[in-house]
Amino acid sequence: DMGVRGGRAAPNILVTGTPGTGKTSLCHQLAASVPLQYINIGDLVKEKELHDGWDEEYQSWNLNEDKLCDELEDRVAEGGCLLDYHGCELFPERWFDLVVVLQTDNSVLYDRLVARGYSGRKLEDNMECEIMQVILEEARESYEHSKVLALPSNSVEDMEQNVETISQWLKSWKSNPS
Ligand code: ADP
Ligand code: MN
Repeated sequence: DMGVRGGRAAPNILVTGTPGTGKTSLCHQLAASVPLQYINIGDLVKEKELHDGWDEEYQSWNLNEDKLCDELEDRVAEGGCLLDYHGCELFPERWFDLVVVLQTDNSVLYDRLVARGYSGRKLEDNMECEIMQVILEEARESYEHSKVLALPSNSVEDMEQNVETISQWLKSWKSNPS
């Protein structure tokens, strides 16, 4: 079936959200308990140099979206990928069966970003991104609403609940061919 499931034997999941919301932590937990192949986009971009150089002011790589998507296409086509990235509109819509958007309360996120060493414009921009729900809106504009799942990510309990929620979603995907 090449319909909603994109002809894949296993689903692809994107975990997105503002930096510091806990994407990588959640993905590590998930990848330890479900058979998905974890891909940290930030690490991949660095490793395979899928960028057009370093942005001094923003202290980050300037992503080359074409190179990134070319690099990922074959792996994603096979299915069973768990992608971790702080954006979602650059990927083809057909790639994902579920788009998880993590959300963190402002004061909690602020402390996490400061602990990570963010300051100045980078800190402000990321806080504003979360306050304005930029990633959630981006997800809802880029994917069918039924595929977008916003989950709280403030505490360890939240993380455990999120692992459970996504594991259950995976089970129902597998037992529900259409
Ligand atoms: P991201 O990958 O979205 O940038 P990380 O997973 O690196 O976020 O998490 C940022 C920081 O917040 C880390 O120090 C991590 O331990 C902590 N953290 C992440 N998720 C949670 C959570 N649900 N509860 C408490 N702390 C968390
Ligand atoms: Mn991360």
